[in-house]
Amino acid sequence: MSQPRLTVLAGPTAVGKGTVSTYIRDNYPEVWLSVSATTRPPRPGEVDGVHYFFLSSEEFDRLVDEGQLLEWAVVHGRNRYGTLRRTVQAAMDEGRRVLLEIDLQGARQVKESMPDATFVFLAPPSWEEMVRRLVGRGTETPDEQQQRLETAKLELAAEPEFNHTVVNDTVEHAADELVSLMGLLPLQR
Ligand code: 5GP
Repeated sequence: MSQPRLTVLAGPTAVGKGTVSTYIRDNYPEVWLSVSATTRPPRPGEVDGVHYFFLSSEEFDRLVDEGQLLEWAVVHGRNRYGTLRRTVQAAMDEGRRVLLEIDLQGARQVKESMPDATFVFLAPPSWEEMVRRLVGRGTETPDEQQQRLETAKLELAAEPEFNHTVVNDTVEHAADELVSLMGLLPLQR
């Protein structure tokens, strides 16, 4: 009997979780990547329903009140992000391989409710490289960068809570290792 698999990918700020999950969305159609709800406004090029469901604060409140979120968290002390319980459950019921790309607080909540899921920690090749990536991205103000680095230090310490660690040296390598952990064959290149 094939067991539907839920895999949770988490890791420190700016480690490249978003890049790895985008790569998986583009290259591994067998993986069902959960689309989160968020109160953050869309960045240029982001599409509602594809990258996130962009919600008002009131709409997000309603999802929380109605128990529709499998997990949710305030990320970087600013916006709320959450996983829609029903769509994830439906994909699992269909036997799909489901991937959640969420922050550490969210991963801990999923571990409480679904301890049999596979928890994967995405680690930077080094602290220096992580700082370089965060600053290089240029999308945050210096204050926001500082806040994200503080968060990242705490998040790095969480690695032992996870079943597996994948080092994000290149996006292809990290994605291949992640899909292998999900029981899929990596792409032949
Ligand atoms: P960004 O605003 O850069 O798209 O995402 C910021 C952070 O929010 C990332 O660390 C990402 O993993 C996290 N995130 C995205 N969706 C969710 C979610 O549904 N739940 C939780 N807990 N975190 C999320």
